[in-house]
Amino acid sequence: MRCYKGSGVSGGIAVGKIRVYRREKQQVKRRHTEDVQAELLRYEAAKEEAARQLEMLCQKACRKIGKMQAAIFEAHQMMLADEDYNGSVIHIVQSQMVNAEYAVARTGDNFSRMFALMDDEYMRARAADVTDVTERLLEALSGQKGSQTDAEEAVIIVSDDLTPSETVQMEKNQILAFVTEQGSVHSHTAILARTMAIPALTGIPDLLAAEAFDGKTGIVDGTNGMFYVDPDEETLRRMLAAQQEEAGKRELLSALKGKENLTRDGRRILLYANAGGIGDIAAVLSNDAGGIGLFRSEFLYLERDCFPTEEEQFQIYKQVAEMMAGKRVIIRTLDIGADKQCDYFQQEKEENPALGLRAIRLCLMHPEIFRTQLRALFRASAFGKIAVMYPMITGVSEVRRIREIAEQVKTELREQGVLFGEPEQGIMIETPAAALISDLLAPEVDFFSIGTNDLTQYALAADRQHPKLGGYYDPHHPAVLRMISMVVENAHKAGIWAGICGELAADLSLTREFLAMGVDELSVPPGSILPIRRLIREMNVEEYQTRTASQIPGEPAFAPAGSS
Ligand code: PEP
Ligand code: MG
Repeated sequence: MRCYKGSGVSGGIAVGKIRVYRREKQQVKRRHTEDVQAELLRYEAAKEEAARQLEMLCQKACRKIGKMQAAIFEAHQMMLADEDYNGSVIHIVQSQMVNAEYAVARTGDNFSRMFALMDDEYMRARAADVTDVTERLLEALSGQKGSQTDAEEAVIIVSDDLTPSETVQMEKNQILAFVTEQGSVHSHTAILARTMAIPALTGIPDLLAAEAFDGKTGIVDGTNGMFYVDPDEETLRRMLAAQQEEAGKRELLSALKGKENLTRDGRRILLYANAGGIGDIAAVLSNDAGGIGLFRSEFLYLERDCFPTEEEQFQIYKQVAEMMAGKRVIIRTLDIGADKQCDYFQQEKEENPALGLRAIRLCLMHPEIFRTQLRALFRASAFGKIAVMYPMITGVSEVRRIREIAEQVKTELREQGVLFGEPEQGIMIETPAAALISDLLAPEVDFFSIGTNDLTQYALAADRQHPKLGGYYDPHHPAVLRMISMVVENAHKAGIWAGICGELAADLSLTREFLAMGVDELSVPPGSILPIRRLIREMNVEEYQTRTASQIPGEPAFAPAGSS
């Protein structure tokens, strides 16, 4: 048995087979062949295998996320049968007497470069499809099983790092846990793991160089940050027992389902869940959330190869609204940029992407993308209690511009005779600027939702992605807590409600503090709903306020750089 220590970024224990996630493009070598016919037969076999995989993915996607999303795999199937593509591969093998891998790689490069140079945006986006199909063919030719998403059984994923778009494209029920060399507790991949209730560890440098993990048995203890490989009997027994104990605790908590989020002295709070897509709704409902406080719409954009159309988005938002059956669903408009990059939206490289063109800034700079999303959101809001939330706000004029565009979109829908609703419109308070002028912003909107993940990084000038800045990135810092308190106070003065949707909302050590501040809503990973409900029901806010009235928040204990 080998043990590796990392940072647990999502709790829980997983036991199962390990699968190394390889992102690198296949290295293809040019090989001369005398047997051209044999290479062509290999190519035909690889095509059949790729077609079989795509058919399977298409059916799976249809079942899990709907026909609309499955269309991408149909497009890949068509590309696999494309005469020009096939003609080129065959021609290269025959004329140059080379191996099929080389012919496929050359063809893939040529075609994707051709698409990338086209004027038409839709055709440009096809470049990524060509690359995808080419990679699949190369995998089939090399006899590899394909990327993790095609795995037959649920596995522990080991990787150097995972981007949000890679994570979101993985089949949730085929992942037992994540273990990565890099990453931080505040990264979006860690947030996704928590939302999906999948144990996850990060920060084990040089892990992949340590041994060949593929196919071995592993145990991930996300709560204690441990990764065991080829566990001995005693460890296996101990971890399985711990896993059972966790299941028992969850069982006990389930008695709280259907109960109110009411303190002993009669204060009520809204307890909502965060979701990254339709796939999370089952967990939202089974954990008895009162609504969705943050639906990160950008994951719809990240899990695909081109922009979702208005109709595709409308169908998804409508489905969420219907599934939540009248409960509030707060959908955040597109928040890409920084660590969340869509390959097909070729953003220019930035020196400081977290301070750059992301979220609402990007939407205001590309109003066609923004308007498409707003049309879909307003239409879907006729089918449930959708609220729209704008991220990364820094000023009043920005909010006024957004509301102006929103009104234009509604007028357009009205004139076209398209059915739409009148959703609440709120903003995220996740920049110090927004927190400090929250008194001015409050009259402009229907609600505030505090994004503590970004608010902490911007207030403390500490990159949330940075693996060595854990000691500086401290969401308990008085600067952050004072801003939260100030935002809530300003919201109430203007008669609107204020919630928290950053990860801090799920921090049980602060639940009492948040209630005492008057926070109206907490939006947390689905698995945190019931533990928070238990705490709320045990507390007496008035008593707590009296006890802590004379306390001044002190400076946090300084932890040196590098500790986390
Ligand atoms: C936040 O910043 O707190 C937030 C909820 O948004 P995200 O983590 O997606 O940036
Ligand atoms: Mg944010």
